[in-house]
Amino acid sequence: MIDKPIETVMRESNRDILIPADLVATVNQDNNLQHVFMVLTKVKYAKIPVLDNDNHFKGLVSLPMITELMMQDTGITSRPLEAIKVKQIMQKDVPTIYERDNLEAILRYLVDENFLVFVDADTHFKGIITRRELFKEINYLAHNFNKRYIALPVYNHKSKSETKNAKVHGSKGMIN
Ligand code: AMP
Repeated sequence: MIDKPIETVMRESNRDILIPADLVATVNQDNNLQHVFMVLTKVKYAKIPVLDNDNHFKGLVSLPMITELMMQDTGITSRPLEAIKVKQIMQKDVPTIYERDNLEAILRYLVDENFLVFVDADTHFKGIITRRELFKEINYLAHNFNKRYIALPVYNHKSKSETKNAKVHGSKGMIN
């Protein structure tokens, strides 16, 4: 569980860590891979969300998923891309979040992934939460924590350097 003071200060930043859907580059699940290839190349994002006609979130597509199909025995070609729809190759088993205040889950997920997809209860795509936006929150926390709380060392706690010094110089006079 996240310590209450940490969560309180992060929430006080009043910044929205969500990039809203209208600012996120997406493709439609029926788009062919030629189109998706061009979109990904243009927006320069490694991976983007795939939606259906009603804006439901369906999956994710990345450039490597497409370039793999372009590699033929004879060399690299974009010819096969026209006949394949993105829904045939997209990543479908993608965790999403619909409680945007669940900081605990967001932090845990973004340890391994670059972004987290935010949906409503009917899986309509609402936006993404990226590592970059979360880092801005952590930066805010690092610079503002002591404006709201006084951090005291835990009694009996030894920092790594104290422990190292104790080993080198002996532990005389230290509280053990
Ligand atoms: P960042 O933390 O800003 O580097 O973003 C992490 C990842 O989130 C990027 O590599 C993209 O896959 C995705 N992403 C960020 N912003 C957008 C956007 N506006 N549209 C689509 N995908 C995005």
